[in-house]
Amino acid sequence: MDLRIGWLYGHEMNIYGDRGNVLALLHRARGRGLEAAVEVLGVGDAFEPERYDVLFWGGGQDREQISVSADLMGAKGRDLKAAIGGGMPMLAICGGYQLLGDGYRPYEGDMLPGIHALDITSEAGPTRFIGNVVVDSPEFGALVGFENHSGLTFLGPEVEPLGRVRVGHGNNGRDGFEGARYRNTIGCYMHGALLPKNPQVTDWLIGTALERKGGAAALPPLPDDVESTAHDAVVKRALQLGR
Ligand code: GLN
Repeated sequence: MDLRIGWLYGHEMNIYGDRGNVLALLHRARGRGLEAAVEVLGVGDAFEPERYDVLFWGGGQDREQISVSADLMGAKGRDLKAAIGGGMPMLAICGGYQLLGDGYRPYEGDMLPGIHALDITSEAGPTRFIGNVVVDSPEFGALVGFENHSGLTFLGPEVEPLGRVRVGHGNNGRDGFEGARYRNTIGCYMHGALLPKNPQVTDWLIGTALERKGGAAALPPLPDDVESTAHDAVVKRALQLGR
């Protein structure tokens, strides 16, 4: 197996098209002749990080985050934190992103503890941010997605933002940034799904995973005119609508 994808909480946390990220990873790996497969891990499932080459964790409503947060209190959360610290390539979106940090404080109820893998903290704000997002990333260029969250995420000194918001709200609608970067992990609020419209990020995750296994990080080119058309259409619409 060239690329084994671990899809964390794929049944519990998979909203606003986030499964598209897993499909994009499979498509662009198989398009290069790589043998790729995905395994879904849920609440109560054992987690062996060394089994996987790349991890994905999608978004979910507050109620799903309660059971998932509890599932990660113990060895499972510690193992995921260690994998991220050890350079595991990972993408986490919205609710998953929030629980990578100190935790998420819903509008009502107690703080949902996270795994403290990323130096971020999140809390529900008074309004819900909904709309297209365009972000300028120094690492990946222009990124597009769709946000739907009430959570506000604040970055500490140990992480870098993914990029600067050009359209939308991003992490908190205040500091002008979206997402977080730490080692080989990307966290952000961009649903949509993110990867099908941003193939450069998909290829980076695949290349990083292959490089960690002793392979070549540089992938042979793959036609991405469909992805680029979708990307450009969202940028155009977001700039016209301002959201
Ligand atoms: N419940 C969290 C929030 O509203 C995450 C939502 C999501 O994953 N889209 O901020």
